[in-house]
Amino acid sequence: MHRLCLSLLLSAAAFAQTPHDNLPNAGLLEQPPRAEQAAKCPAVNAWSTPAEKSCYRTTPRYEETMAYVRRLALAAPRQVRLESFGKTGEGRTLVAVVVSGDGVFSPAAVHAAKRPVVFIQNAIHAGEMDGKDASLALLRDILITKKQARLIEHAVLVIVPIYNADGHEHFGPFNRINQNGPEQMGWRTNAAQQNLNRDYLKADAPETRGFLREWNRWLPDLLVDNHVTDGADYQYDVTFGIETDGPASAWVRKTLEPELFKRVTAAGHVIAPYMEFVGRTPDTGITNPSATPRFSTGFAREQNRPGMLVEMHMLKDYQTRVTGNYEMIRALLEVVNRDAVKLVEANRKADRETIARGVEHQARQPLEVEATGETEPFTFKGYRWKTEHSEVSGAEWVQYTHEPVTITVPRQTTLKATLTAKIPAAYIIPAQWTAVIARLQLHGLRLKRLAKPWTGEVETYRCRAPQWQEQPFEGRHPAAWHSGDKSPVCTTVKVKMNFAAGSVVVPMEQRAARIAMQWLEPLGPDSALQWGFFDSIFEQKEYGEGYVLERLARRMLAEDPKLKAEFEQMVASDSKFAGSPHERLNWFLQHSPWWDERIGLYPVGKVDSIRELPLQRPPAKKEADEEPDYEPDVPDRA
Ligand SMILES: [Zn+2]
Repeated sequence: MHRLCLSLLLSAAAFAQTPHDNLPNAGLLEQPPRAEQAAKCPAVNAWSTPAEKSCYRTTPRYEETMAYVRRLALAAPRQVRLESFGKTGEGRTLVAVVVSGDGVFSPAAVHAAKRPVVFIQNAIHAGEMDGKDASLALLRDILITKKQARLIEHAVLVIVPIYNADGHEHFGPFNRINQNGPEQMGWRTNAAQQNLNRDYLKADAPETRGFLREWNRWLPDLLVDNHVTDGADYQYDVTFGIETDGPASAWVRKTLEPELFKRVTAAGHVIAPYMEFVGRTPDTGITNPSATPRFSTGFAREQNRPGMLVEMHMLKDYQTRVTGNYEMIRALLEVVNRDAVKLVEANRKADRETIARGVEHQARQPLEVEATGETEPFTFKGYRWKTEHSEVSGAEWVQYTHEPVTITVPRQTTLKATLTAKIPAAYIIPAQWTAVIARLQLHGLRLKRLAKPWTGEVETYRCRAPQWQEQPFEGRHPAAWHSGDKSPVCTTVKVKMNFAAGSVVVPMEQRAARIAMQWLEPLGPDSALQWGFFDSIFEQKEYGEGYVLERLARRMLAEDPKLKAEFEQMVASDSKFAGSPHERLNWFLQHSPWWDERIGLYPVGKVDSIRELPLQRPPAKKEADEEPDYEPDVPDRA
């Protein structure tokens, strides 16, 4: 009730000031009134998009968006196919609009012809729907007016108008306080309050599982993920970043990026690399963060494909943002069509290189990178800002003016690996870790299974118990380790392990091997262990009673002087240990044959060869093609 009254009051007040702009946050954002924009409204015709018809005051709901793409498909049946790739938690259909110039819709035929597949994803954060309205306009201009028909000369487009469809329908005027329109919009997370752009590797959400199916079906050559920023104010309306580290990176850095700058600038928009600042204000410099595979673009990179993040600037009006996003995709598709074979061949080379590293399995694979600190001067087009003390927050208040200012700031440029792991010939996952295995199936990894039990020596890790994050993150409590403790978090060990029949073997000589490594290397930033899938390995399940352990301890102290010295050293040096009767007695259990050696022992093995393993004969149908056996939702600590 309260919220409704507030809404009426605020919107009524804003509406009275600027007839064209009744945003409840207009007074908070201090943007110029948009009254002059009415003059720029596009002429309306039968194929105007819903956003164009409203002169970008509004954005269409899910049903209206689907109605528009169905109309497109009916009007251009030879070039458009609508594909459903799953259901949201609330049961909405996830729709991809596939566009192929010559009407070939078979992924195999498209790949055989070396035509690049571009996957364009919108509204993963459904309050940031600029890409949806830009995509509708672009589809219209490709298929109906044919002004952009050349964009499907070679490329096949897989466009998801609304990825986070449930979040999109959590619709209202109060969902994005920092964003300058449209009047109402969707919400950041899905209906179960999961951020889909943290879910690419762990794949908890039904939407992610649908996405992975569609990704594996098309195996795109480039992923575009359209967003709207949060953060500082500056002149740029379009910012973007491309994650890539393989053979495609030379083309991306030397050709694609300069072309995007040139073409989008020529279209009247102000474009820059995606930026986060080192400190709170732009003069502190621009950082160069790299996306881990929980993010769309980090996922694409680990799939050997460039992943492009587009961030429209939240304070620009909706018309500027939608048209800027349109120009960005148009420019990208122009270059991709021109350099079609170059891109496809670079991606295949990346796949071959990944497979070759799996065959040799001697090299180390980077799992995490960070900026080296190396910088180059960057000409930053900002707005003059001032900081003053705020008696409200008690800290500095940064305020941006509308006065343009150009300054030179340091921009971090290069990355270095901060975590690597040795590539094995294969991983073996014991059959009982079903949720971990299910994720690899969802990722389309080629898996083999043991036909009968196998015992043998494998390389793995012994890990010190984490201090789990107290606050939930994405519905989980990820592992964390005290930075104060200098002993290694996980050390490599060689141990004999038992694997039941049905245990899963993941050979590294496959194109998506990097995804498997990110998931299975325990210290990978988005690994199964980090997300809590292996928490139970850190739990002690049998305990000794005090009166039993007292006798055990006394016997061990009497029989083993070395152990006695070690115990006394522990008591003398570790006050927490010394003060805990339980820990002191349990210490003797740990040093006795009653201790469960599996505690802290990572159960996934790495092997140098799969020749010794009793593998099942390959199934008639590839396992990767089968419907993954979804397990019910993973248990959460929360
Ligand atoms: Zn976003």
